[in-house]
Amino acid sequence: MKAEPEILVSEIFYSIQGESTYAGWPCAFIRLAGCGHGCRHCDTAYAEEGGVPMSVSEAVERAISFGAPCIEVTGGEPLLQAGAYPLLEDLCEECPDVLLETGGFLPVDQVDPRVRIILDIKPPSSGVSGENCLSNLELALESPRRFEFKFVLASREDYLWAKEFIFRQQIAGSCTILFGAVFGELDLEQLAAWILEDRLPVRMQLQLHKHIWQPDTRGV
Ligand code: SF4
Repeated sequence: MKAEPEILVSEIFYSIQGESTYAGWPCAFIRLAGCGHGCRHCDTAYAEEGGVPMSVSEAVERAISFGAPCIEVTGGEPLLQAGAYPLLEDLCEECPDVLLETGGFLPVDQVDPRVRIILDIKPPSSGVSGENCLSNLELALESPRRFEFKFVLASREDYLWAKEFIFRQQIAGSCTILFGAVFGELDLEQLAAWILEDRLPVRMQLQLHKHIWQPDTRGV
C-alpha cells in the first residue's frame, strides 16, 4: 500500500482572510512550516522552522471541519514541501475556493489548476528581490484569472520599482495586482496618494487581520 503523504504543519486555524481579493471572507488556514528565504519583513518567522508532522488527510479533515467558504494554504513557504501538492489537490475536492499564498521564489507550474494563487513579488526592501521566480509570470499570462500578484511595499523606492515591474512584465491590466504596505513602515495615506496620482491598475489592500487584531497575534 502506498504511504500517505505527510506535511509539517505550523498551525491550522479559522479566521478572516486578510490579504487578496478574498479579504474579509471567513477562511480556514493551513500554515505549513519551513522557509528560510530570509525576507527582511517576514511576519511569520515563527513558521520558518519546526512544525508538527501530519498526514494530508488529517490536515484536510481539520480544515474542512470549520465549514468555511474558502481554505488557504500558507506558510512559511508551502511549496518547499512535496506534500503541499497533494494537499492542495485534496482540498480542491472538498472546497470550491482554495487559495495558496506563496513567497514567489519557487515555480508554481505543478500546482493544481483549480487553486487561486496569491503570489508575492518581493520588492528591493525585502532583500530578496533578485530571487523572484520570473517563469511564474509567463504562466500567469497564459491563465491570468488564477493569479493575484501581491507587492508589500516599505518605501517610495519599493513603490517605483513595483510600478515599473508590473508594466515591464506585462501583468498590469491582465492579472489582479495587489499593492499593500509593510505594517507600520509605509503610511497608507501616502501609498494611496501615489496609486491615485499614477492611476495604476492595482488594488490597494490592507493586511486586514492586523487591523482587526494586534499585529503580532498568531492564529488569525
Ligand atoms: S517567503 Fe514568506 S515565510 Fe519565507 S521568509 Fe519570506 S515572508 Fe517569510
